[in-house]
Amino acid sequence: MTTTTAGARTHAGRPPQLQRVEGALFVDLDGRRARYECYRPGCQHPMEGPVRAIDKDPSDTTGKRRIGIDGLVAFIDGVKDRHLNTHHGSPR
Ligand SMILES: [Zn+2]
Repeated sequence: MTTTTAGARTHAGRPPQLQRVEGALFVDLDGRRARYECYRPGCQHPMEGPVRAIDKDPSDTTGKRRIGIDGLVAFIDGVKDRHLNTHHGSPR
């Protein structure tokens, strides 16, 4: 009798699914900078940043204000969702 085990062996011979890394966030606290790299195949914009705390704040018309740690944290918090929404049309 070999049919009793057939149902449990449907996946036999398949390699285990590798967990795919789709992106990575790099944060350098000493240098106060961060960047996001996207590893999805065919990505049109595989790197976001690097952004530094001393970067000029683009919303400041005088051009003197820097984004600071708050701006850096905002980048870190939002970059992945923003990237996926902008370049992949979905937050996942
Ligand atoms: Zn991407």
